[in-house]
Amino acid sequence: PRAWTLRARPKGLPQPSDFDLIDLPAAPLSEGEVRVANTWLSVDPYMRGRMNDVKSYVPPFVLGEPMQGGALGEVIESNAPDVPVGTRVQHMLGWRDEAVLPAAQVQKLPDIDVPEQAFLGQFGMPGMTAYFGLLQVAEAREGDVVFVSAAAGAVGSTVVQIAKAKGMTVIGSAGGAEKCAWVKSLGADAVIDYKAGDVVQALADAAPQGIDVYFDNVGGDHFDAALLAARLHARFAICGMIDIYNEGQPQSLKYLFKVIGARIAIKGFLVGDHLAGVADFYRDMGEWLAAGKLTREETVHEGLETAPQAFLGLFTGGNRGKMLVRV
Ligand code: NDP
Repeated sequence: PRAWTLRARPKGLPQPSDFDLIDLPAAPLSEGEVRVANTWLSVDPYMRGRMNDVKSYVPPFVLGEPMQGGALGEVIESNAPDVPVGTRVQHMLGWRDEAVLPAAQVQKLPDIDVPEQAFLGQFGMPGMTAYFGLLQVAEAREGDVVFVSAAAGAVGSTVVQIAKAKGMTVIGSAGGAEKCAWVKSLGADAVIDYKAGDVVQALADAAPQGIDVYFDNVGGDHFDAALLAARLHARFAICGMIDIYNEGQPQSLKYLFKVIGARIAIKGFLVGDHLAGVADFYRDMGEWLAAGKLTREETVHEGLETAPQAFLGLFTGGNRGKMLVRV
């Protein structure tokens, strides 16, 4: 078996030379453990934070040790009677082709009729982030005008579709004309190409009456644009700020003062805090899927060797929908 390790802590945008693909010794199974042949690996923006040696909500990756991340695959050897050989499972020992771990740390895949890799994307963590962030954190409801940044990504594209399914008006932003056309095809009422001009002006033009909800995946000028466009009692769900993950230097928010007059509620959240509602997520997503209201999109890199390349692509807009590696 082989696994990706971090050779060095990246400065700024990570480089391929920051990663090493190493051989792992064949590990015998202990009592209660399973061996999983990974078929799909997830790469996610939050992993950039784990590459820094700083205290955060997840501990940093250890240099020279296999990295972790969402993955799914098939049990090929089992010392745990409740997870027999042949079971399809997901777990957190990604960045490798084979995982050995306690059966208690794997989850069987939910019984929903979608290709299994969807459980790393729209029907998995990114989908839950969209669902809980929009509906619980921002308390978005029918009739609201919603602005979502990184709208062509895994989380953002799902926010667009849930918002449309719930009868909201949606403005998305994404980089480049092609991605913007795709976001439009998902049902967005307007799409801003943030690479083509000033996003603050573009949002003001797209939402002349203002916005009720901002779902932030980007931060920086997008956050500022949302502040300036915010209507009275707007709610902001702060999900991510990918524009500073490689910089570490927050941009100043020129329009933060708007939070007072417009009584804006700004809430950060982590998807893990909302898992009590996961049955609602599967029920609603299953219904929207059956009603033809969900389009699932994945950008797939082939082979374990491509994992760093897939990860780096998240920061250069290399993905439409969920970025995945097929082992
Ligand atoms: P995406 O699939 O959205 O991939 C990242 C996208 O971000 C890229 O495709 C790119 O699209 C865009 N992007 C990258 N750099 C910039 C930049 N400097 N400015 C503007 N856009 C940029 O990733 P996810 O859907 O997995 O994650 C989206 C956000 O949600 C991230 O910020 C992530 O950290 C956050 N998140 C938070 C969670 C939580 O619990 N709070 C859980 C999961 C995700 P484009 O081509 O349009 O630029």
